[in-house]
Amino acid sequence: MSRIRLLPEILASQVAAGEVVERPASVVKELVENSIDAGAGKIEVSIRRGGISLVRVVDDGCGMDRDDALLSLERHATSKLRTAADLAAIATLGFRGEALPSIASVSRFRLTTREPEAIAGTEILVAGGRIETVRDGGEAPGTQVEVRSIFYNLPARRKFLRSENTESRNIEHQLHLQAIGHPRIAFVYVRDDRIVFQLPAATSLLERVRDLHGNELVQRLLVVEEPAAAAHVRIRGLIGRAGVSRPSRVQQHVFVNGRAIESPVLTAALREGYHTALMKGQFPVTFLFLDLDPAAVDVNVHPAKREVRFRDPTAVREAIVQAIRKTLESGRGDWQQQFQRTPTPSAPIPVPALPAPIEQRQFPEPAAARVIPSRAEGERPRQQPDARPAEEAINIAGSSQQFQIIGILNKLYVLMENQDGLVLVDQHAAHERILFEELRRRMEEQGVPSQRLLLAQTFELAPRDAEWVERNAGTLQKMGIGVEPFGQNAFKIDSLPTFLDVSDPVTFIRKVIDGLKSASNGSSPLRLGEDMIAKTVCRHAVKANDQLGYLEVEKLISDLLECDLPYCCPHGRPTMIQISLAELEKKFGRKV
Ligand code: ADP
Ligand code: MG
Repeated sequence: MSRIRLLPEILASQVAAGEVVERPASVVKELVENSIDAGAGKIEVSIRRGGISLVRVVDDGCGMDRDDALLSLERHATSKLRTAADLAAIATLGFRGEALPSIASVSRFRLTTREPEAIAGTEILVAGGRIETVRDGGEAPGTQVEVRSIFYNLPARRKFLRSENTESRNIEHQLHLQAIGHPRIAFVYVRDDRIVFQLPAATSLLERVRDLHGNELVQRLLVVEEPAAAAHVRIRGLIGRAGVSRPSRVQQHVFVNGRAIESPVLTAALREGYHTALMKGQFPVTFLFLDLDPAAVDVNVHPAKREVRFRDPTAVREAIVQAIRKTLESGRGDWQQQFQRTPTPSAPIPVPALPAPIEQRQFPEPAAARVIPSRAEGERPRQQPDARPAEEAINIAGSSQQFQIIGILNKLYVLMENQDGLVLVDQHAAHERILFEELRRRMEEQGVPSQRLLLAQTFELAPRDAEWVERNAGTLQKMGIGVEPFGQNAFKIDSLPTFLDVSDPVTFIRKVIDGLKSASNGSSPLRLGEDMIAKTVCRHAVKANDQLGYLEVEKLISDLLECDLPYCCPHGRPTMIQISLAELEKKFGRKV
């Protein structure tokens, strides 16, 4: 007896809808993407009751004639894909030809559409996948889709919907993504008859981000602009400065060829790019756009097209990491400028005789003319040539860039004055950053200084680990760890980095190997070394209560300002905090 049957068309659509239409936000996503593909200049989205009772998307795009409008509701009907070759190089957001029929099969659906020159448009009403009415419609050119009572005919799926608030939040997130991804398109979002946002067409990403998130965030962003190089990936956009973070990934946006994508490759790349620039458990703020040859990325791996597969994931990852690092490092210029501007000469701050003078002995004339000049001429320039402009800008600003050290608070915080007000430096965090960069540079150059063990020790490893160590012995050496083969699967360890203080070298090396092995999927060995340094450097750094003399503090600060990422320690905690004069004035009630 034959048991296999072809599914009826509507049922097939409902099955497909299970993948494409998870919730009202997926309806919004599909409809907005269709509007974008249709060349819309303005898209208006209205929802009611979390999109459960209504989602309406109105665009001013190319519209459809009657035949196409009817066809668009058939499964596998699309204007965006013709041949198998097209599939390998998709430039539109849609291509599966499944969204409209899927959505129409699980809702009460109304499509009205009109081409710009057509005298009349078309209106089609569908309920649960069955076309009920087709007639002339008199709407403005463009397309309008209304989706009511989602899942009304599939009670089991309706039960899976969350609260209206949660669904609304998902929709809003989805619209944010689309709005960021397409700044040139104007967006209006209306929720339960109230306008939530109204974004005019923007001329740049920056403008769009400002309209959406406000100026305060924009000021904490850096511009990324990396032309396509070896990896053939152009990377552009905006990313948060080192230390600008969020407790979740909500503001971590990456677009691949205009499409918002979530992918482990991208997440890992961001984490690595921000390595040592963010606190543990924090996530960066990014509005990053990758443009690459459509043939180098497969978008046909996820029904809702949220994921992609890269032909060369390692190259993509590396390109992102480099772009982020370079950008973060260039971001230091502004800080230096802030910290090195001369305090206003007109307002010398008289130092009152404090009841309990701060470090009186070491700071005989606290706010007097003890200033630290900017880097002397002829000194080794640490920045790569590409970061020059920022440096030059500072030099042009005047030859006397300097800040003043006022004193030390609680044996921990260096108090400084600059033009904008008060600067507090955590001397412990600062020292960590300096030491970290110093060791990293050594590791990249001649290797970390290492110290011979009094007694070399031997140890054995499982064959897989043994093989890994043999392959990476050079890297370990650079990290200051001297390991040599010593028979079958056995090794000898005879030196360790000088800055390390371990009592049991063998346990230490086993841990390092475990850690490095698990982290080594694609990361460069140097970055692994960085990890190790970041983890150990802390112990070596100046302890919170170490008393430093004036010259030491002076050196600490100038070394810090020489760092690539001076504003946070290798664990992402801030090294310095600025309290502006304006803030002080507010606190003292001089200004409201
Ligand atoms: P896909 O987007 O994958 O092609 P859809 O089911 O989303 O599949 O849409 C089917 C077709 O309907 C599209 O290829 C497009 O030609 C047409 N279409 C859908 N929405 C619009 C719109 N807003 N404006 C113009 N044409 C549209
Ligand atoms: Mg589509």
